[in-house]
Parts: sequence; C-alpha cells; structure tokens
Amino acid sequence: MKILVVNCGSSSLKYQLLNMDDESVMAKGLAERIGIEGSRLKHVSAGREEIVIDKDLPDHKAALKLITDILVDAEQGVISDMAEISAVGHRVVHGGERFSGSVRITEEVMKTLEECAELAPLHNPPNIMGIQACKQLMPDVPMGGVFDTAFHHTIPDYAFIYPIPYEFYKKYGIRKYGFHGTSHKFVAQRAAQILGKALEEIKIITCHLGNGASITAVDRGRSVETSMGFTPLEGLAMGTRCGSIDPAIVAFIMEKENMTAEQANDMLNKRSGVLGISGVSSDFRDLETAAGEGNERARLAIDVFAYKVKKFIGSYSAVMNGVDAIVFTAGLGENSASMREKICSGLEYLGAELDMEENKVRGKEKVVSKPQSKVKIIVIPTNEELMIARETKNIIG
Ligand code: ADP
Repeated sequence: MKILVVNCGSSSLKYQLLNMDDESVMAKGLAERIGIEGSRLKHVSAGREEIVIDKDLPDHKAALKLITDILVDAEQGVISDMAEISAVGHRVVHGGERFSGSVRITEEVMKTLEECAELAPLHNPPNIMGIQACKQLMPDVPMGGVFDTAFHHTIPDYAFIYPIPYEFYKKYGIRKYGFHGTSHKFVAQRAAQILGKALEEIKIITCHLGNGASITAVDRGRSVETSMGFTPLEGLAMGTRCGSIDPAIVAFIMEKENMTAEQANDMLNKRSGVLGISGVSSDFRDLETAAGEGNERARLAIDVFAYKVKKFIGSYSAVMNGVDAIVFTAGLGENSASMREKICSGLEYLGAELDMEENKVRGKEKVVSKPQSKVKIIVIPTNEELMIARETKNIIG
C-alpha cells in the first residue's frame, strides 16, 4: 500500500510518498514560496539526486499538480500510475475538542475543520487548502486527517482548564489543547520498543525541541500533560516564541509601547524566545557559536532555554509520580549534545544519569544514559510523516 503524506503551510507544501509494505520513503520533497514570486519545488526520488524545479506555483493545487506529475514522470517517477496511491494523509494542526483521533475526511469533517480554523488561524486554513487541492486532483482517493492536538485529548480537565472565568471555555473553547502530538506519540511508541517494554507499562517524558518546542508527560501511553496550550505559544522558551510568561507583562508593554493586539502577538511569537534574549539568532547553532565567542546574551539565552526544559521535566515527573524514560527529539533534541548535557545536569536526583560518551551522538537513535541509570535517557529522531502514514493506513483499513 502506498500513502502520500501532505503537510501544507501557508506558502509551502511538504510531502512524502511512503510504501507501507516496508514503511520506506519512495519520494519526498518541498514546494516553497507558493503564491509568492520565486516559487520552486525540491524533490528527491529514493536513490536519486535531489532535483530543483523553478516554476510559478500560484496556489497549493498547482504545487500538488507538479508533484503528482513528477511522481509518475517517465524519468523521475517512482510509480507508473496515480491509481497506485491508496490514500493521502494530511497533517492538520488543530482538531479542537471534536477530534480525539485521526479521521477519514468527509464533507462533515471538512465543515468541522473550518469551524476549528478560528482556533488556529495561521495553520488550519492552509491545511484545509491542501485537502481541497487533493480532492480536486485525486477525487477518488480516500483521505485521512491527522491532528497535532489529537494525542493530547486524554489530558484531564484539571490540567486543561485555565484559571480564568469558566464562561470563556464555554464561549470560545479557551483551554489547553497541546501540539506536536504526532511527534510525541511517535517517539513515545519508539521509546517503549527500544526499552523492550509495553507502552502501557511505562512513564515517559518526551521533549520535542525544535524551532517550536514542547514537552509531554506520557503516562502509560496517554498524554496527561503537555507544555503548549491554547496556542503553540505557551510553555518553553522557543526560537522566537516567548513561552509562558507573566500575562500581565503583555498588557504592560502594550500600554507603554502603544501596541495593538496584533503587534503584541507578533512580538511574542516572532521577536521573543532565544532570539529576543540574545539579539543574535533563533537558531541554536548560531547561539552556540556566539556563546563560544564570549557573547553573554547568547549564553544567557541557552541557559534560559535549558533551565525551562529542566523545570518541565521535574514537574512532569511529579505529574506522573515518577518517570522511566526521558526522550529527546527534533532539531535541537536530536542534534545538540551540549544542550542535552545542560538539561540533564542536576537531574541525577531523579535517577537520570547522562553518559557523556554515549551522548556524543547526532541525529541517531541511541540510549545516552549510563547503564545503571534508573531513568533511561534516549535520543530518538522523530518521524511525523511516518506516523501520519500509519494513522492514515489504520483509518482507511
Ligand atoms: P521545526 O521543525 O520546528 O522548524 P526543527 O525540528 O527542524 O524545527 O529544529 C530546528 C532547530 O534545531 C534549529 O533552529 C536549530 O536551533 C536546532 N538544530 C538543528 N541542528 C542543530 C545542531 N547540530 N546543533 C544545535 N542545534 C541544532
């Protein structure tokens, strides 16, 4: 069975074609600058060199048409007919409270998705556009919607309700939803396999540390707490996002700087986090270089980030009454040995002992704790596309 996985951003379309018989990637790529001048497609077919096609792509449908043409192309193609694709799996950021798991996309689901769009105005509308483009180009192919929020639907009410007037939960759906669920679920399942345990037996703290970053407490397979909230702004300090701060700061700055709500949102999402602290970059590679050259604010930004991760790990072990494994994933979690070291130093009281030698690893699956460490520390590259394909396969049966 072959499944196409599609992940649409406002001006981008990431895709992978997977052969689910052995879960191998047949082709993958990224269409960029959709609807903007200078649009192009980067595509790689398995075992071949990457190709780049500069072509005007006015909308997501045009991008998808180009992609499907390449998939069946005589030279670059990996399938001979589009009919070989059994299903399309779509990443959808926000499923609101309605979707507690992945779903087959129907007219009714589309209506509900549009209702959820208000909760994720930056993310859901492009996801919906991607689904519509696929429906037009491949009308008979079944489609699945896999939500970033769905894995967190098991979070209990006392963890998802904010202490503000209850009416706002009822009126606007203001509550914690959590994000990166597909990634947290994938690495939690993988961690259990690596440890040779059933997922239902163990307590895991999964740290997805990329540009956007979040931590989840996975108690015997169920997400019971996560650091992102109503939006992906809550929780950890991130590349450009502030994470959790005293909410009174927002009104204070808005008043002092004469900002509109939109400008304040922009400041908190795009000019804060480690970029805001350091003034150098949102990318941790740049921060590590700058800190190494003596830049104090870059050092401070790294320290703030690591400190917040450590605080969440401590509190999530309290939430679950213990922890068996801590997992690091995504760009920073998979690649930065020094960040893992900073986060894990001082977690020995929990029984989590990092092995400095084993920790010298980048982008590979590995247990990096000492053999005697009670809590296992594991680096696991995430694979959201594979998880989406697996979920889609399950949905269409
Ligand atoms: P997202 O998918 O959220 O955009 P990624 O998971 O790709 O982000 O992570 C990107 C981030 O990972 C970069 O901003 C960078 O800070 C960090 N990163 C990637 N590689 C390294 C590395 N070798 N060392 C340190 N940080 C890295």
